[in-house]
Amino acid sequence: KTALLTVKDLGMTFPGPRGTFRRGGGIKAVDGVSFDVRPGETLGLVGESGCGKSTTGRMLVRLLDPTAGRVDFRGKDITRTGQRELRPLRSKLQMIFQDPFASLNPRQTVQQIVSAPLRAQGTSADAIRREVRELIQLVGLAPEHLERYPHQFSGGQAQRIGIARALATRPELVVADEPVSALDVSIQAQIVGLMERLQRELGVAYVFIAHDLAVVKHISHRVAVMYLGRIVEIGDKHEVYGNPAHPYTKALLSAVPLPDPAAERVRERIVLLGDPPSPANPPSGCTFHPRCAKAQDVCRTEPPLLQITTAGGGRQAACHFPEA
Ligand code: SF4
Ligand code: MG
Repeated sequence: KTALLTVKDLGMTFPGPRGTFRRGGGIKAVDGVSFDVRPGETLGLVGESGCGKSTTGRMLVRLLDPTAGRVDFRGKDITRTGQRELRPLRSKLQMIFQDPFASLNPRQTVQQIVSAPLRAQGTSADAIRREVRELIQLVGLAPEHLERYPHQFSGGQAQRIGIARALATRPELVVADEPVSALDVSIQAQIVGLMERLQRELGVAYVFIAHDLAVVKHISHRVAVMYLGRIVEIGDKHEVYGNPAHPYTKALLSAVPLPDPAAERVRERIVLLGDPPSPANPPSGCTFHPRCAKAQDVCRTEPPLLQITTAGGGRQAACHFPEA
């Protein structure tokens, strides 16, 4: 399948301490990120907090302008398009946020919130009324909820409203930035299940951002793992979960609980050394080297490129000594 979204060498450098930005310094929150998203698929984008995954997500929908690279959506570079040209694409490219309450206007009714993207694209009042009734039921709420305000809902219900709003214009791609992280664990699976069903029914593609590989395991078709602003491993879900090539992915996976308690008792946990380093002061060479049990001399000096490994499939990893 041809790509719906193509991301090439995407970068975001924030100004660092005074003057460093102008001298070519600054803080590289995202550095040389490339991937694509195919129609109707889910790409899980995973990494610890501060790895640049949210910044990447915001650049995909142009809530943030990248400082390097480009994003092509349906074959058009959206990083350099003017707002007027961007408008028709906006309805095909939507976002779901981590904190549903913070992203819903507390003074608007659900009707007003969900209909906003439809009004913005000029849909008629009659069609909006019909659409919104349909959408609210599609996400598992009822028409009588339309007259209520966000604070009258639970976190899970509020996220359903955020999902209804994101899907109102029938987008082809939705970037979901940790859409279940703020919810009770008991509710998380329901929301992920809802997103999966909506994908099947509407054919929408997702970039699903999470800090935890467990959350995206079921919903993802492919997974990308980020560390300190870069993708360190990307590939088919079954390959990455079944046989991780990068030591960081391996460590993250060893923290995912196993459903079988017997397997859980005997499995080995990989504890990462130290804290995640700051993007303001990244380690030399492979930026993961201070925390990697496999690090050799070359790792301290040479940054590994993201490339196809012998681990199988089309999977890519950025490591001098990937798992075979
Ligand atoms: Fe570890 Fe070296 Fe691979 Fe980096 S390049 S992940 S330090 S083995
Ligand atoms: Mg974030």
